[in-house]
Amino acid sequence: MEASPLDIAYGEDVFNEKAMREYLAKDTVETLLHTMNDRAPLDPSIANEVAHALKQWAMMRGATHFTHWFQPLTGTTAEKHDAFFEPVGTAETIARFSGKNLIMGEPDASSFPSGGLRCTFEARGYTAWDVTSPAFVKRHPNGATLCIPTVFCSYTGEVLDKKTPLLRSMQAMDKAVRKLMACFGEPDGHAIITLGAEQEYFLVDKSLYLKRPDLMQCGRTLFGAPPARNQQLEDHYFGSIKPRVLAFMEEVERELWRLGIPAKTRHNEAAPAQFELAPMFEELNLAVDHNMLVMETLRNVADRHGLVCLLHEKPFAGVNGSGKHNNWSVAYNGKNLLDPGKNPQDNAIFLSVLASVIRAIDLHADMLRASTAHFGNDYRLGALEAPPAIISIFLGDELTEVIKRIEQGETASEENGKVGKLRVGVDTLPPIPRDTSDRNRTSPFAFTGNKFEFRAPGSSQNCSGVCMALNTIVADSIEHIAEAIATLPKATFHEGLERIIQEIIRKHGRVIFNGDGYSAAWVAEAEKRGLPNLRTVPEALAVLLEEKNLALFASRGVLHPTEMRSRYDVFHAEYSRKVRLEGKVALETARNILEPAAVEELGQLAHILLETKQAGLKNGIESLKEKADAIGKGLDALHKGCASLEKALTQDAKAILQAMVTLRTAADTLETQVDDKRWPLPKYRDLLQIH
Ligand code: ADP
Ligand code: MG
Repeated sequence: MEASPLDIAYGEDVFNEKAMREYLAKDTVETLLHTMNDRAPLDPSIANEVAHALKQWAMMRGATHFTHWFQPLTGTTAEKHDAFFEPVGTAETIARFSGKNLIMGEPDASSFPSGGLRCTFEARGYTAWDVTSPAFVKRHPNGATLCIPTVFCSYTGEVLDKKTPLLRSMQAMDKAVRKLMACFGEPDGHAIITLGAEQEYFLVDKSLYLKRPDLMQCGRTLFGAPPARNQQLEDHYFGSIKPRVLAFMEEVERELWRLGIPAKTRHNEAAPAQFELAPMFEELNLAVDHNMLVMETLRNVADRHGLVCLLHEKPFAGVNGSGKHNNWSVAYNGKNLLDPGKNPQDNAIFLSVLASVIRAIDLHADMLRASTAHFGNDYRLGALEAPPAIISIFLGDELTEVIKRIEQGETASEENGKVGKLRVGVDTLPPIPRDTSDRNRTSPFAFTGNKFEFRAPGSSQNCSGVCMALNTIVADSIEHIAEAIATLPKATFHEGLERIIQEIIRKHGRVIFNGDGYSAAWVAEAEKRGLPNLRTVPEALAVLLEEKNLALFASRGVLHPTEMRSRYDVFHAEYSRKVRLEGKVALETARNILEPAAVEELGQLAHILLETKQAGLKNGIESLKEKADAIGKGLDALHKGCASLEKALTQDAKAILQAMVTLRTAADTLETQVDDKRWPLPKYRDLLQIH
């Protein structure tokens, strides 16, 4: 082990190769590594030995329990702990954990959402070990738990989780990429999808959080007037990090490193009290599991520091929201295929993959948008500070120029000595900078030198849904292009390849947009180009049920139509439930917390007014009257708003959301009029400050 000033060792709580070598026989290690690296099926004959080793290893770290750790459709992770210990006789216990416990579990899962896939008589699903993501130990104040990453299925085989379709989509990519690479005469190998998930979050002081029922129940503020000083000064972004926050971040990082999660960068984000944690990219399945652990760790550690970590996409109105930039790429035999490369062969492969992505995004922007459909994200997408709900691709000037030259082909002119035409597979591409300074931040899907950065996903979302959709649509296009390339005669291979890429660009280039994604002009332009603009969750989710999408996901072996429909049901129900919950919390807060404060304020003013008059004072009466009038009007508006929301709660989501907006306007106006001392909710100016 390298010398380290830390009292922890990187990855010490992961059953990684080092731990395996320490606890398992050499042959077993090789078999297990082969299973992990080559995604081979697990050899059941080693399960007992591995289970025994895992138990010993975990108990050395204080673990008393084990759990299958899975990702149900709720978007979070789920665990059900079982103790290692079992009584034998009356006075003794033995630690038991068998290969069977390791490979398969049966959580009493009848309350996980399944969208009707499990009937009540078949309520139990089962979890099965995902050998490709290593087991780990989660430590807590009075013990530790061995966590075994698993998939979650019904007994009839339908998936009930987020991990299974992700793994299937990775297989679809593997198959497609291998086909494509074969066309280029590359040796047989494996495609590895890579993901670097940048995580944005807010921190608030716990004592203030506990006074906000909206934050506690909905994860965002349902009321709150914007403070005088919010983001206008832009002095927070990349500013120096306050010691209290830094102490929190350092503890987060140590916990993550212990779990083998490569937390790399930390900084202040655009909004006050907003921050970001970015890990180094990893293999997709692992990166997704790790991001789930990042979110959990942020929450847990914040609590120990008297803070609360808000992962909601839009905790504060009028202040920047939080996203999760998914940096995505695909490597083959260790080479990043989205790296343009330095020779014509690598360039040609790069351009083929790029063309596939362009085709995929143009054909299936709707599915990609649907993968980001999440109630919290509706407050962010299109709100002039996050990527718009319209999915387009940013390529940057240099690559756009390359694409243009290929698109124009024979018609390209030779001006000023510049070579117009670019021959794919023959000419070398001009250098494409890995621009970090002036890259377009308003694009939802940006090429950033050697990867794509998908910025629409919300900060609280599980990355698996997003990457599953991306993998599936790109796999489809890579297969499409590979099939076309496979028919090319050897003698005219490069001309043929160029023609194929050219056709794709001509047909699907409309999805490329390098301009300002926040502008109103783009909304109009995108509509002209025929690009979908799915503004809300219900609109976005509807596309899951379209025949073309059902067929696509079925044909790639990722989701069977019944599985897709069940997902639609689950996500739709979740949306309705969340809207209703917010509506109820808003009503309760307004009626039982805010209205009494306004009533008190009015009463106090009326009382003072009376006394002022009785005392025969000449001045101040008009001001008091004016003030009381304003409060009275505010109270009326609030009262009316409550009645409307109450009625809306018996109607649909749209009605509830509208009534909430009206009620909020009334409440936020009152907030600016009522005495600070009397306003019962902590204000934005306090919530957004960490001392
Ligand atoms: P930013 O300016 O957005 O912070 P960075 O270049 O620092 O951009 O990278 C952001 C994220 O992209 C990091 O998590 C990084 O590890 C990840 N990343 C870099 N290369 C790849 C790749 N080939 N595949 C996936 N993610 C990558
Ligand atoms: Mg980024």
